[in-house]
Amino acid sequence: MKKEDLVKHASTYEGLSRRSALKMMALSPITASVLAGTVAPSALEASSSDVVGKIVIVGGGSGALMVLARLRLALSNPDITIIAPNDKHVYQPGQIFVAAGEYAPEDIIFDNTGYIGEDVTWIKDEAASFDPDNNTLTTKGGKLVQYDYLVVATGVQYHFEQIAGLTIDMLGKHGISSVYHSDLAAGTADGGPITYEWFKQVHEAAKTSTPKVICTQPSTPLKCGGAPQKILYLSDDFLKRDKLTADFTFATAGTKLFNLPEIDSSLAKAQERYGNITNKFGHDLIAIDAVAKKATFLHKYEEKGEYNKMFEEYDMIDKEENVEIVYDFIHIVPPMSAVDAVANSSLGWQKGSAKGWLEVDKETLQHRRYKNVFGIGDTCGIPIGKTGGSARHHAPIVVGNLISVMEKREPVLKFDGYTVCPLKTAYGEIIMAEFNYDGLAPSFPLDPAQPRWIWWAFDIYALQPMYRYLMLNGLM
Ligand SMILES: Cc1cc2nc3c(=O)[nH]c(=O)nc-3n(C[C@H](O)[C@H](O)[C@H](O)COP(=O)(O)OP(=O)(O)OC[C@H]3O[C@@H](n4cnc5c(N)ncnc54)[C@H](O)[C@@H]3O)c2cc1C
Repeated sequence: MKKEDLVKHASTYEGLSRRSALKMMALSPITASVLAGTVAPSALEASSSDVVGKIVIVGGGSGALMVLARLRLALSNPDITIIAPNDKHVYQPGQIFVAAGEYAPEDIIFDNTGYIGEDVTWIKDEAASFDPDNNTLTTKGGKLVQYDYLVVATGVQYHFEQIAGLTIDMLGKHGISSVYHSDLAAGTADGGPITYEWFKQVHEAAKTSTPKVICTQPSTPLKCGGAPQKILYLSDDFLKRDKLTADFTFATAGTKLFNLPEIDSSLAKAQERYGNITNKFGHDLIAIDAVAKKATFLHKYEEKGEYNKMFEEYDMIDKEENVEIVYDFIHIVPPMSAVDAVANSSLGWQKGSAKGWLEVDKETLQHRRYKNVFGIGDTCGIPIGKTGGSARHHAPIVVGNLISVMEKREPVLKFDGYTVCPLKTAYGEIIMAEFNYDGLAPSFPLDPAQPRWIWWAFDIYALQPMYRYLMLNGLM
C-alpha cells in the first residue's frame, strides 16, 4: 500500500485525523523504537570487529535477514554465505490484515534480493541435513557446505497433514481456511486472501442463518500464539459491524485464553462483549470430515477421583475422549515443529518438551553443545516467543555473542525473553501484550491489558514500513 493510500485509509478510523495519520507515517526511528521496545541494543552497540571466519546463515526470513544485516554492519571483513530458497520475503504479521481485508496481498511480499548484499554468497537452496561435529551441512541439491560459524534461522514447519482427512488443497474450500497457509520457500502467502474470502462467506451465510464457526489452536508451540484468537475476534467483528451474528467456538488445546492472567482476563472481557463465543479448552483438532462438515477433537481433561484424607483433597485422574463438533465454517491452525533438517539432526533438543527445536541457551542463544552455532527466531527451543518481535530482540544478542566467540571471548549478551503479541480484539482495537521471561514488559507506560485504538494504528500503519526499511536492514 502506498503512503498516500495508508494516510487516506488511516483517516477512516474513528478519531484518527489526516494530520495524526501523517504523523504516524513520519515516525522517526527513535520514536518508533520507543514504541516497539528499546531493550534491544541497536546495531551500533553491537561490537564492530575485524575478525575473520566463514559464517553460514540458514534461512531467508525475518531472523536470517536481521542477523545478516547486523553482521554486515559490524564486521569489517565479512565472509558470509546465506542458504535461503526464497527470492520473495513474506511479512507474515501482515497476513492477519490481509485476512481482515485491510491490506492487499501484495502489501506483504517484498523482494529478498535487496537485503542480501553482493558481498554475500547466496545459495538458493535449503539445508537438508546438518553435521555439526564436522562443521558442515548438505543442501537439498546435494552441495556440501563447510562453515566456521553457523546461524540457524529456519523458522517452523506446518503439519496440516497431521489432521486426518485434511489436505492442503482443501484450504480455501468446503468452509475451511487457515491464515497460516503459505509457502515461504516460494515466497507465497495464500492464507490471507483465502481467509478474507472465508470472512465474506461467513458474512454471506449469516444473512440467512446463524452459521456454526470453529476456530482452532493446536497443542504444539506455534508462531504468533495470538493469531488463532485474532482470526476469531476479527471474523466475529466482521459480522457484528453489519449487525449479523454466528455461533463461534474457540477450540483450543490450551487450558486458558492467554498465559498471563492480566491478558487472559482482558480477552475474557472481549469475549463477553461479543456474547456468541463458546470456549472449548483442552480440545486438539485431530480429524476433519470435509463432506459431513464434522471436526474431531482429542479432548484431554481431569476428573475427580477418590478423596485423599491425608492431603485433604481429591486425586485428579487424567482422562481423554474424542469429541465431534459439526460446523459450517472452520479456521484451522496447524500443528507446528522445527523444520526436518533441524529436528532430525543433533542440533535439536534430543528429549523433553522442546524435542526437535534448536537446542540453544535461552539467554545467549548459543547452541548448548556446539559453541560455534547460534539460533535466531522461531526455530529456537526456548521457553517463550515465536514472533518477529522476539527475532528482532534476538538479532543484536546473536551478533554480539557470535562476534565474541569469533574473538575467543565468552558470549555475555543476554536475551531477556522479550516477545510481543498484538492481539486484535476487534477492528480498530489491539491489546499489545509485551512480555518476557519475568512477565509483562510493556515498552510504553500504558496498561498493557487494555485494548487500544492507538496500537491498531501503530500495527496497521507504522509496523510494516518499520519492519521493511529498518528492522530487516539491521537499523532497529
Ligand atoms: C499469521 C501470522 C501472524 C503473525 N503475527 C505476528 C505479529 O503480529 N507480531 C510478530 O512479532 N510476529 C508475528 N508473526 C510471527 C513472525 O512472522 C515470525 O515469528 C517470524 O517471521 C520469525 O522469523 P524466523 O526467521 O524465525 O522465521 P521465518 O520468518 O518464518 O523464516 C524462516 C525461513 O527459513 C526458510 N527455511 C525453512 N527451512 C529451511 C531450510 N531447511 N534451509 C534453508 N532455509 C529454510 C524459509 O523458507 C523461510 O525463509 C506472525 C506469523 C504468522 C504466520
